[in-house]
Amino acid sequence: MHCPFCGAIDTKVIDSRLVTEGNNVRRRRECITCEERFTTYESAELVMPRIIKTDGIREPFNEDKLMMGLTKALEKRPVSIEKVEEAITRIKANLRSSGEREIQSRAVGEQVMIELRDLDEVAFVRFASVYRSFKDLDEFRAEIDRLSEDNSK
Ligand SMILES: [Zn+2]
Repeated sequence: MHCPFCGAIDTKVIDSRLVTEGNNVRRRRECITCEERFTTYESAELVMPRIIKTDGIREPFNEDKLMMGLTKALEKRPVSIEKVEEAITRIKANLRSSGEREIQSRAVGEQVMIELRDLDEVAFVRFASVYRSFKDLDEFRAEIDRLSEDNSK
């Protein structure tokens, strides 16, 4: 996002909110170089942050991949596709509202874990055990406790 005043490339988001229809995000930005402030309206597709994989490679956010991860964990579980779609919508909204241009893949995984924990315990354990490859059961339990605490806030 170039600064409209001085053309600098680096601007930071100082406020981010969804516009009423939910498909656009209104952002207040500030130029790091000249400190001018300006407002942008960005469509939801444009503002999905890029994903930083564990090896440092950046890739575009991929909703199909997210859907695959969720449905795989929920295989043969009594959870409707509507519930899965709702979960994906929430995950995307959370990632977007961070205002970050790039997000660690780990942060996406944690969002998935939070959603799965609410949807289906078996699916949650399936996903978490693969995703985190926990060394032992204690570590796994500690993670579940941590997530439970986060959610009750
Ligand atoms: Zn500027």
